[in-house]
Amino acid sequence: MALVMKYRLGEVAKDFGVPNKEISSIMAEYFTPAKNHMQVLADEELDVIFEYMTQHNQVESLEEIFVVTPIAPPAPEAPAAPAPEAAKEEKPKQAAKGAQEKPAKSAQGKADQKAHQEAKPAQQQGQPSAQPAQNAPAQKQKQNKPYTPRQVAEKRVVDTRGGSAVNIDKYNEKYEDLGSNKTNNSNMRRGNKEKIQSKSKQRTNPQAASAKRRQEERDKMARLQLEIARKQQLKVQIPDEISVGDLAARMKKTASEVIKNLMKMGTFASISDVIDYDTAALVAMELGCKVEKEVIVTVEERLIDDSQDRPEDLVTRAPVVVVMGHVDHGKTSLLDYIRNSNVASGEAGGITQAIGAYTVEIDGKPITFLDTPGHEAFTSMRLRGAQATDIAVLVVAADDGVMPQTIEAINHAKAAEVEVIVAVNKLDKGGANVDRVKQELTEYGLIAEDWGGSTVFVPVSAKTGEGIEDLLEMISLTAEVMELKANPKRQARGLVIEAKLDKGRGPVATILIQKGTLHVGDTISIGHTFGRVRAMIDDKGDRLKAAGPSVPVEITGLDDVPTGGDIFNAVSDERLARELVQQRRDAEKEERFNARTKVTLDNLFDQMKLGEMKELKIIVKADVQGSVEAVRQSLEKLTNEEVRVNVIHSAVGAIRESDVMLASASNAIIVGFNVRPDPVAEENAKRDGVDMRLYRIIYDCIEEIESAMKGMLAPKFRENIIGKVEVRQTYKITNVGLVSG
Ligand code: GDP
Repeated sequence: MALVMKYRLGEVAKDFGVPNKEISSIMAEYFTPAKNHMQVLADEELDVIFEYMTQHNQVESLEEIFVVTPIAPPAPEAPAAPAPEAAKEEKPKQAAKGAQEKPAKSAQGKADQKAHQEAKPAQQQGQPSAQPAQNAPAQKQKQNKPYTPRQVAEKRVVDTRGGSAVNIDKYNEKYEDLGSNKTNNSNMRRGNKEKIQSKSKQRTNPQAASAKRRQEERDKMARLQLEIARKQQLKVQIPDEISVGDLAARMKKTASEVIKNLMKMGTFASISDVIDYDTAALVAMELGCKVEKEVIVTVEERLIDDSQDRPEDLVTRAPVVVVMGHVDHGKTSLLDYIRNSNVASGEAGGITQAIGAYTVEIDGKPITFLDTPGHEAFTSMRLRGAQATDIAVLVVAADDGVMPQTIEAINHAKAAEVEVIVAVNKLDKGGANVDRVKQELTEYGLIAEDWGGSTVFVPVSAKTGEGIEDLLEMISLTAEVMELKANPKRQARGLVIEAKLDKGRGPVATILIQKGTLHVGDTISIGHTFGRVRAMIDDKGDRLKAAGPSVPVEITGLDDVPTGGDIFNAVSDERLARELVQQRRDAEKEERFNARTKVTLDNLFDQMKLGEMKELKIIVKADVQGSVEAVRQSLEKLTNEEVRVNVIHSAVGAIRESDVMLASASNAIIVGFNVRPDPVAEENAKRDGVDMRLYRIIYDCIEEIESAMKGMLAPKFRENIIGKVEVRQTYKITNVGLVSG
């Protein structure tokens, strides 16, 4: 619960029941003198003030208060407010803490207290010597959080320095009772007993003052109202976060009622403040409502079937295997060998499509290999939330042994919790030493089966093919043990392995189906893109009509190029799917914008460090969002070692003055795709010397920029100050963020 509270000097004084100047003098003594009573006090200042007040208002002993209380007339007890009232108290708790912790000082404290007595009539209330005459003002003060030892006794074990602790403690008397039943803290127990006793005394005393009676009447009314409200039990639905005003409206209560109840729990919130579910639920229950958690159904949830599969629907699926290992240890060779040998035996034509993944069969059981070796690709997919693989084949060259990237790969595989099978490669080479690899890998928890461990080691040669059959068999066996299953009878879901913009076919993506069956003609949402599967081909180049779990296929028909690792879902509602994709695009745009602001600073630093980093900044404008994204993605892919392509801004619409301004300020060029500049923009671009290029075909644009990059000279960097701003104040707007004025 975020507690936003401004505690002003005047309020502190009022709450302690002392004149402002007393608090001012403490401030002056320990900090800088306060400007006026409106000054907001900082936490450490409050700490000191509370400490000071505590130390200077010690009671002789707690027993004294408690023992005498029964004798004392109930009138003075009135300030020992009903529990919710007391719950407001922050300062007294501090005092209580002080009282408890420093009994030795109490004598001196009492002396001090005497000195303060005149200024603090309220403080007298719990004292046995309290006089009725002093009670009247105290009664009034009660509303303003009096400073009473009684309350001190009630809630003692509170550290005011931890704001949240205070508030949690304040929440509810119920909680305290609960806590005291469980806790071994005898102080806390005693505190509660005292509270109960004092309450019963309150009720039974026949000599109650009229003020007291009035209070009782009020309490009774409140209880009655609560009772009635409970009987009616209005049901309210509360989401994760809700504004006070909204909550009040849902409960059919006034906002001030809610605010008052919040205050009782120690939360100071205004009508527009947003409170969390727990706080809101407590208030609602306090106000006699029945609380239900409101579940907000997102477009995603409505659209995507996320139901659990029934066990009887599950069928065995092929394992998905990734090959990892140190550079040059033979990952690519191994993948190539497996693919080619398999094709040679199975397919007449013998030409495979490089679609980023392929399936081979061993003893009639399929195994799917991801064709991009290395753990970076694997991990970047995982980073995006896509757990694609079941088994990792760790390739270690027998003549080279464990190398840095081998260890990295092991760690990545471990982090992903995939099974590791070690392929000790280059057996054919002289100097190949399988045992040495086994020995070295024990250090990383990979212990060979024949050495008493559980890791499968298979000696292979990607060159001669020796052992590869064994490797495939071991993969198949491991998969069998893993019991990999999926339900083919549902809408398909899976992830993008790779995607590109094909000149002839448009965006194409290789996807791996993880569950369900994908059909040609299915509508899919795929990361930030959307589409309808136009054609589907497998790794053998065959056109498929449907593809089930663990099958990699290349699909066309998307409206944009997705990103590797993107999740795809076949959906039934096209309109909703479009909505979802738009939502995701908006979210991404915002993310990118935020990242950009950060990155720019980083880049500046990088540039300063590297000194010679060349960067091509581009602004992309296009007629439709799809083109904007396609152009942006294709351009950024042009990044090479010498030049980094940075699309600093991309949007739909004509090239405007503001675009030219941005380009001029950032030394960027503008790329327009099926759009024209407006007259002002054109004029300004000419004037500022901003390069503006207009295209009708994405490919032309890419080609031209690519060639320009090859001959690009080191760009001139210059700073262009276009203005200065002074931030005078910042303030928060809910759902918007921090705004500077
Ligand atoms: P990667 O970087 O891990 O993908 O390794 P490569 O597959 O590119 O292989 C690196 C080098 O090792 C290439 O020159 C391969 O020809 C060679 N190589 C790979 N496997 C074997 C093998 O089993 N035996 C021999 N002698 N050479 C191999």
